[in-house]
Amino acid sequence: MPDFEALRRDYVRLLIREGVRLQPGQRLVLSAAVDQADIARACAEEAYNAGCREVIMNWSDDALTRMRFLRAESDVFDTCAPWRSLLYNSLAEEGAAWLFLDSDDPENLKGVDPDRIRRSQVASGKAVKTFRMLETSNGFPWCIAAVPSPAWARLVFPDLEETAAVARLWEEIFKAARCTRGQAVADWRAHSDTLQKRVAILNEYNFKSLHYQNALGTDLTVELPEGHFWAGGAEKCTKNGVEFSANIPTEEVFTLPRRDGVNGTVVASKPLALNGNIIEGLRFTLCGGKIVSLSARRGEDILRNATEVDEGASYFGEVALVPYDSPISNSGVLFYSTLFDENASCHFAFGDAYPCIRGADGMDEDALLSMGVNQSITHVDFMVGTADLSITGTTHDGRVVPVFVNGNFAF
Ligand code: ZN
Ligand code: ZN
Repeated sequence: MPDFEALRRDYVRLLIREGVRLQPGQRLVLSAAVDQADIARACAEEAYNAGCREVIMNWSDDALTRMRFLRAESDVFDTCAPWRSLLYNSLAEEGAAWLFLDSDDPENLKGVDPDRIRRSQVASGKAVKTFRMLETSNGFPWCIAAVPSPAWARLVFPDLEETAAVARLWEEIFKAARCTRGQAVADWRAHSDTLQKRVAILNEYNFKSLHYQNALGTDLTVELPEGHFWAGGAEKCTKNGVEFSANIPTEEVFTLPRRDGVNGTVVASKPLALNGNIIEGLRFTLCGGKIVSLSARRGEDILRNATEVDEGASYFGEVALVPYDSPISNSGVLFYSTLFDENASCHFAFGDAYPCIRGADGMDEDALLSMGVNQSITHVDFMVGTADLSITGTTHDGRVVPVFVNGNFAF
């Protein structure tokens, strides 16, 4: 087994060579927390080795983010600095590669006025609209990957002391990224191929609707729009035609629901880390696609705010299938990070839909809406998979096909 330093080098290589698959002459925008400078430098070095034109740093700091939310004047949360929209939108349009190293403390914004969080999301959502649009339509290559911070590691492993917790979290991150044998790029590609095989089967069935049921109380019918397709594994950048892996890790295959075609009740199976807060016991009831009632044992006001940031936030935008027996799920670890927890479990998202629909390229918002593609400035995944989850699909010619039996793929 390679030692820690060797694994970390292999991980960095995976993020640059396979995550964003950086091409010679391309810029890299690297988002990282200031206390992750070591690994940020290693990523920059690997990027220059791959022929990067220039690495542009986008630094953040949990403590300063929290301080701003608590202490800045209230009206600053209604605007977004023009330089920020220029940075995001222009580099996205150029086709720069974006690597987000996520190490955020999931509880960093605990106790912050949820209205400040909501207003700031609305403002930044408007300011970086071009960036978001290009991100969801693969207009530039991007990758979100995790790096442990002490605060995050302590939350995940409360019984370990800090250094041990960070080491343990690294171990879980390596395992989930298939980075254990010193050949992470090759092992990741093999995994990505498995996901693409499932995608092919689902696209062949071309289901009209899916019906979810389990003992937690989920009983939900999800219609899929005409012309939808499933995606998963590597995706192709529309700008340079190169395949990239938007999430490392990923276990999901996903598509979009028809905006007005979701009906019934859905209950989350794991806590959700949302805007620096933790939501537990989430339950939504939907009618004609719209969330008509919601509740949560913890964080209900945060959840309610999140579904009210705009009209589309109260409709679903993603349907994702993940076997209950996935490596992340089998680890038994609750990560309080959507990047990991969503890959341990079947999930939905409320908010913006990935336009997984044939012929959607270049369509304007109204045309997308009329095809059943939800639009919002937000997109929040929440986990619904359980060991007893059953999903049945109904085809356009009325055949009923088991898709999930006892939490896992039936095929
Ligand atoms: Zn997802
Ligand atoms: Zn999602």
